[in-house]
Amino acid sequence: MLKVAWSPEYVLPLPPGHRFPMSKYEMLPQQLLYEGTLREDNFFRPDPVNEDWITRTHDQSYWQKLKNLSLTAQEMRRIGFPLTLELVQREITIVHGTMMCAEFALQHGVAMNIAGGTHHAFANKGEGFCLLNDIAMASHYLLEKKLANQILVVDLDVHQGNGTAQIFKDDARVFTFSMHGANNYPLQKETSDLDIGLPDFTNDDFYLSTLDVNLKNLITQLKPDFIFFQSGVDILETDKMGRLSVTKEGCKTRDRIVFESAKRNSIPIVASMGGGYSDFLEVIDAHANTYRVAQEIFF
Ligand SMILES: [Zn+2]
Repeated sequence: MLKVAWSPEYVLPLPPGHRFPMSKYEMLPQQLLYEGTLREDNFFRPDPVNEDWITRTHDQSYWQKLKNLSLTAQEMRRIGFPLTLELVQREITIVHGTMMCAEFALQHGVAMNIAGGTHHAFANKGEGFCLLNDIAMASHYLLEKKLANQILVVDLDVHQGNGTAQIFKDDARVFTFSMHGANNYPLQKETSDLDIGLPDFTNDDFYLSTLDVNLKNLITQLKPDFIFFQSGVDILETDKMGRLSVTKEGCKTRDRIVFESAKRNSIPIVASMGGGYSDFLEVIDAHANTYRVAQEIFF
């Protein structure tokens, strides 16, 4: 069955008017239950991760500053959330969600986290609403437990997976593939193992054919035994931050291409949510599509 990480702690109260769409972490599971895509028993509730795992990926000094709420005002501005104990608790719960998903994916082929995809978190700093890098931490978990040898990160958020790229720059065991808007944040990109920077207004045809060709090549050449999918929906034409012109149907086809590739090649896959800044109902519907497609393909 499809196991999905979620906890009430994912939903953090933010100051009124904050631009981050926090309520999607509440609405998305409700929508998926309401429409019958998921039942209560699809969900599991991660607890906060053990600190030892955090410092496998992140610098001890950065983690200490986070934990003690002692990041500087400038460091917090880069992250974009007010730094509170509740925020830190939220993040260490979400990252554990992705790590537990990795275990479930080994059993069921796929698992998903209703949060995460925090790909702008570096080993020593956070930015762009990302504090800890869930995909990097779960990758280290799998490698250290010898549950995977060659991991492929497929990062399809409109923003480059700069933190993930930097963390695995010198680690051949994790191949980072990021396909993103060339003119989107971060303006100064890191170097992934494969970067595809797409021009503004990239449409469905170009987007999907580029993805299809590259994913096929990577799977053939690299022979990954695990895939992490950052399934951000900020590639939509309606997105307020993204610069691409992918339709909601195109975005759903994207999810289908990724999940079908994993299924066809018997590669366990974990999807982490990623960004989405269209009108609220559009964001929920596009994220829900990722779950609908996973259910359709795997179960
Ligand atoms: Zn994004």
